[in-house]
Amino acid sequence: MTTIEHALLGINGALATGLHRRYGWQVVALAGLVAISPDWDGLTLVLGPVLFDQAHRVWGHSFLTCGLLGILIGVLDYRFDVVTRLANVSARGLRRCGLVLPAEQGLGSLPLRRERTVAGYAVWTLVALAAALSHLAADLVVSGTATLGDWKLQLLWPFSTEGWIYPHVHWGDPGMTIIFVMGMLAMYRWRNRLQVIAAATLLGVAAYIVVCGALG
Ligand SMILES: [Zn+2]
Repeated sequence: MTTIEHALLGINGALATGLHRRYGWQVVALAGLVAISPDWDGLTLVLGPVLFDQAHRVWGHSFLTCGLLGILIGVLDYRFDVVTRLANVSARGLRRCGLVLPAEQGLGSLPLRRERTVAGYAVWTLVALAAALSHLAADLVVSGTATLGDWKLQLLWPFSTEGWIYPHVHWGDPGMTIIFVMGMLAMYRWRNRLQVIAAATLLGVAAYIVVCGALG
């Protein structure tokens, strides 16, 4: 899956739980952020193709590293309210670039989380863990291109280098993106139906993957 599709998978997953009604948009943003986090191992490209080849879809894509990083991001985000800070910084940046944002929504000066509870930490940790694992699930079924082979995931790395892959859809296939975009348009149209639209979007993506696998 592409980075945007991974993020949308996490975002729709969080919305489908309905947690945003109690914990706000921040828990949804966290899921989107964590869902793309395992691909940090792709950044090894800046250190050269040899390392990239060794590291990408390995170092960040095992249950251990992916789960630990997800939980770490979840705990840090709950403690320091990272996503709200990022939203404020980007809103101020956009304003500086001359973009006018609706002032009544408080964009650029959203209040940071002041009270933290054990339940909140638990929710953030579980959402982060689920979002991180959604990345592995997606990479297991969306793999390869018309010209490149599939990429196996070493889920038990560093304890084992055995690889798994169940390719159903090619990487970069536009079908899933189209379903996600249709879901976003529906959310824009029916803003008080986010949970059911997110669940329908996920079902649509899952069905698409299964059908492609069956036909392919
Ligand atoms: Zn990945």
